[in-house]
Amino acid sequence: MRLGALEAGGTKMVCAIGDETGKIFEQISIPTVTPEETMPQLIGYFKQAKIEALGIGCFGPIDPDRCSDTYGYITSTPKLAWRNYNIVGAFREALACPVGFDTDVNGAVLGEVTFGQAKGKNCVVYVTIGTGVGAGIFIEGKLLHGMLHPEAGHVLMQKRADDPYQGKCPYHKTCLEGLAAGPAIEERWGQKAIALKDRKEVWDLEGYYIAQALSGYILTLSPEMIILGGGVMHQEQLFPIIRGYVKEMLGGYIRTKELEHMETYIVPSSLEDCQGIMGCLELAKRAAGENDCKDYKG
Ligand code: ADP
Ligand code: ZN
Repeated sequence: MRLGALEAGGTKMVCAIGDETGKIFEQISIPTVTPEETMPQLIGYFKQAKIEALGIGCFGPIDPDRCSDTYGYITSTPKLAWRNYNIVGAFREALACPVGFDTDVNGAVLGEVTFGQAKGKNCVVYVTIGTGVGAGIFIEGKLLHGMLHPEAGHVLMQKRADDPYQGKCPYHKTCLEGLAAGPAIEERWGQKAIALKDRKEVWDLEGYYIAQALSGYILTLSPEMIILGGGVMHQEQLFPIIRGYVKEMLGGYIRTKELEHMETYIVPSSLEDCQGIMGCLELAKRAAGENDCKDYKG
C-alpha cells in the first residue's frame, strides 16, 4: 500500500510516503506557519504522491473522539493560528482518502509497538522530552484516549528542595514540562540544554524529575516498557540516572522481572527518531482498513 504519514509539530511538519511495513520511501519537512500558508504545501505533497490513506500524528491538544462534532480538530493549542482548525477535514476534502488521526505521542508509541522494540507488548508508555513534554500510552493493546487524550507531560511534581527554579508552564508552573522540558532547562541554567552536557548537577536534577513522573506512570498504568524520546533525551547519560532514581522512588514496593532489568525497561527509542512517522504509517493503514470515508463517524 502507498501510505502518507504526517507528523504535525509546532515548529515543523514532517511528511513521508511509505508502506504498511513501516518502510519510508521519501520524506520532507515543511515549517509550521499558519494553516493558510502550510496546508496547501502539505496537500500538494500528498496529492502528487497518490497515497491510498494518510495518518496524522498531531501536536495538541486535539479532538480524537470519532463521535464528537469536532473530531479531527486541533483544539486549544497555544499556536493561535491553528486553534480550532479541522485538520482531518481539510485533508479528507482535498485528498478524498481515509485519514487516521491521533496525538503525536500516541503515534510514536504506536510506531514502537508496531515496528520497534515494543512489538508484542500490551502496555507501553512513550514519553517525549523536547520543547514540551508529552506521553503516548498504549494500554491493553490500544491507544489510550479516555475523555480527551493523556496529557501526562503536565503531571504535577514535588520540587526538589535544592531547586529554586519557579517553573515554566503557563498553566501549572512546576509540572513535569514546566520543570524538565528543554526551555525549562535553558531558563534554569542560563544555557541551552545541549551546551550543558558536562554539568553533572544539571542531569542529576533532570533525571530526578523525569524519574518522579515515570514512577507515577508505573504505579498508575503498570507499563511493561517505558520509552523516552525527544531532543533532551539525546543526553544519554540521563538513562542510568533516571533508572536509579525510579528504583529508589519505588522503594522496592513493586517486584517484577521488568523492574529487575531497568536497562531494558526504561529505554531510548529503537527506531532512530522515526518512531513518530512510522506510527503515522500505521495510523494510515488502520484508517484504510476501516474504510474510513468522508463522513465516517466511527
Ligand atoms: P520538538 O519538541 O520541538 O519537536 P525536540 O524534541 O528536538 O523538538 O526538542 C527540542 C528541545 O530539546 C529544545 O529545548 C532543545 O534545547 C532540546 N535539545 C535538542 N537537542 C538536544 C540535545 N542533544 N541535548 C539536550 N537537549 C537538546
Ligand atoms: Zn503544565
